[in-house]
Amino acid sequence: MAIRAAFEHIVPFDPISIFSASPGELDEIPLGVIALDRLGFVKAYNQAEAQHARRSPQTSLGRNFFDLAPCACVEAYEGRFRRFALGTTTESERFRFTYPFRWGSRDVDIMFVRREGDDRIFIMTQSAGLAVLVSMTSEAERAAERVRLIETRPALVRRLSPEAIWFDDLILGETRWSDALYAMCDLDVGTHRQIGGLSAFTHPEDRAAVEEFVASAFAARSAYGFEQRIVTARGRVRYVQIGASVSYDDDGRPTAVYGRAADVTTHRREDEALWELANTDRLTNLANRLRFETCFERELDNTTNIGKTLGLIMVDLDRFKPINDTFGHKAGDDVLCEAAGRLAASVRPSDLVARLGGDEFAILLRDFPSEDVVDTVCQRLHREMQKPFVVEGQDLEMTASIGVSLYPRDGADRSALLHSADTAMYESKRAGRNRVTYFDVDVAKRRGETARLEFELAHAIEQGEFELHYQIIIDAQSQAIVGAESLCRWNHPTRGRIPPDEFIPIAEANGTIFALGAWVIGRVCERIRATIDAGIAPIPLWVNVSLVQFRSPLFVDTVRETLRRSMIPPELLVLEITESFASADFGETVRALAALKAIGVNIAIDDFGTGYSSLAYLKNFPIDYIKLDRSFVEDILVTPIDRVIAEAVVKIARELEIDIVAEGIETLEQATCMKALGCRRLQGYFFGRPAPIEAFFDDMTLRPVV
Ligand code: C2E
Ligand code: CA
Ligand code: CA
Repeated sequence: MAIRAAFEHIVPFDPISIFSASPGELDEIPLGVIALDRLGFVKAYNQAEAQHARRSPQTSLGRNFFDLAPCACVEAYEGRFRRFALGTTTESERFRFTYPFRWGSRDVDIMFVRREGDDRIFIMTQSAGLAVLVSMTSEAERAAERVRLIETRPALVRRLSPEAIWFDDLILGETRWSDALYAMCDLDVGTHRQIGGLSAFTHPEDRAAVEEFVASAFAARSAYGFEQRIVTARGRVRYVQIGASVSYDDDGRPTAVYGRAADVTTHRREDEALWELANTDRLTNLANRLRFETCFERELDNTTNIGKTLGLIMVDLDRFKPINDTFGHKAGDDVLCEAAGRLAASVRPSDLVARLGGDEFAILLRDFPSEDVVDTVCQRLHREMQKPFVVEGQDLEMTASIGVSLYPRDGADRSALLHSADTAMYESKRAGRNRVTYFDVDVAKRRGETARLEFELAHAIEQGEFELHYQIIIDAQSQAIVGAESLCRWNHPTRGRIPPDEFIPIAEANGTIFALGAWVIGRVCERIRATIDAGIAPIPLWVNVSLVQFRSPLFVDTVRETLRRSMIPPELLVLEITESFASADFGETVRALAALKAIGVNIAIDDFGTGYSSLAYLKNFPIDYIKLDRSFVEDILVTPIDRVIAEAVVKIARELEIDIVAEGIETLEQATCMKALGCRRLQGYFFGRPAPIEAFFDDMTLRPVV
């Protein structure tokens, strides 16, 4: 019969006969048996199922089976049941289902059976591959019969069975094994000795679960069946499926166990090979993300129970992409494998190293005595990754950015810990890569604030939250105001005035600088236009230009367009670019500067003396002014050698026809000194602080310069 064939190796009876079985008969079956109506409500439930599910039939009857099922994957199971229940064509369906258990997962063979004219659908469940020793007749009776046989003729029974079977007399504490079982345990068949039952060979990792299973079967006075690993006398690990009938006395105490063990190692190994495939990163042979996450979750569970700590280390290779781009994917793969090997070699075998994807790796450290150990590991990883990688015979510098989070300090669950370690790793990148960073709540908070500012910055221009202040520049000889530098202010609705040093870098990082820079130039040009319109003699206004902005291909157009719109003489606009612009692509820089000069604006080098460019280098650029950095001005009065250098700089600048502006002058002494050096223009708090332009035109009183 068709059904029978389909489920034969585990159900040695016609499944249709189950429809006429009494509840007592159902309980005799060591297969899990559940009867459901078409909606999934429980009509019957046998002992074996109760034992598997750790649930009593009383609490299950009348409830929906799929509400009772605790496992996360119940949806797939339920979907299958629904489809089967709706259909009418098939009388049975069999499939294998993976149940997650606390200590692993287990494949279970499941069979749905229906009979015409019966509302019930029977579900039979069985650990995969287990051969069962039951029939529909009273198994307990049969077992008892066999037991009696063994008791009287043990040697005969041993020889009789080609199968790995055993008999435990629980009253006398005696055990009898068949030859096949001895062989399964790698014990010499010829030299039988008294052994303490199969449990003596149970794999240590399975022991607790096995004991629990057996105890609950005894408590429920039922037969039992499960899969376990044994470690044989020769130390080999085998997977066996156990099925056992138990005799109970009138008081419900177990008196004898009649069991059979089936070796399913080959089957299991295949499963394991499949599992390996699904859980391993093909390229590096490390664990993949899937496996990492499962292990992490399990480890967290264990760790929480025993109050230990866990360490999570994220490792991201620095500048990996250029290697892929330059040397090709094969070289990129080699580097990844080499990196994987170094990481794995830097930790203990019990630590888990995984490749999460791309050039991103994660390491889970379990069981470390103190944080110092984590630090030692990180330093080792850091050192290992700094060693050159050989690609196509060349030594390549490849470093890694490392981020660390610790459980429970930096997060309560997997995603929080991953996020923390990730944040720390990005902190490493931000700080210049090639380093180890521990997660720090304060830093994360600050980053959070930055992220908020970043967001708000985008709207601040539309909201009219920016304002320009101006700081005058005076002529050292005449003390006349010969210009004013515009300095940007952000009047934040809740945080008050935010200084440019705080928001300019954010604007540069997220691109808002383009809009902001254009706004500033626009405002400044409008201001010049308004001055001209008011009939006041205009002075040049100086505008700070971010390097990011300067390098944009649209920058020159923006300047040209703004000037055209406001119709002001271009020489009234002075663009301040920081000294470090010179380190950019030379050709591009020359082209951009030439284009700006062609428009007619003036160019100033800001913060001169803080970078490394030389005046000789600057002669290649069309530059009108140099602004000596504030720190330079400060130092000249203190260290004589700086004075000598400053004098030389001023002299060379003169020869190059570049005017020098000394900024940051706070005292009369400094002003005198800079004037004596030959600076034609001076700027600083001594002459005036940055202020709204209204204040600066009304109240300006110049201080005398000697
Ligand atoms: P910077 O271009 O070097 O501007 C000079 C800074 O020094 C200004 O700070 C100014 O208030 C301050 N300062 C001027 N005289 C003195 C002095 O005598 N003593 C001291 N201790 N400080 C003085 P502020 O306004 O906070 O601006 C800081 C920086 O922000 C500027 O440095 C500039 O790089 C940038 N920035 C300001 N506005 C803009 C803008 O519109 N666009 C761009 N890209 N950057 C801007
Ligand atoms: Ca400036
Ligand atoms: Ca400056």
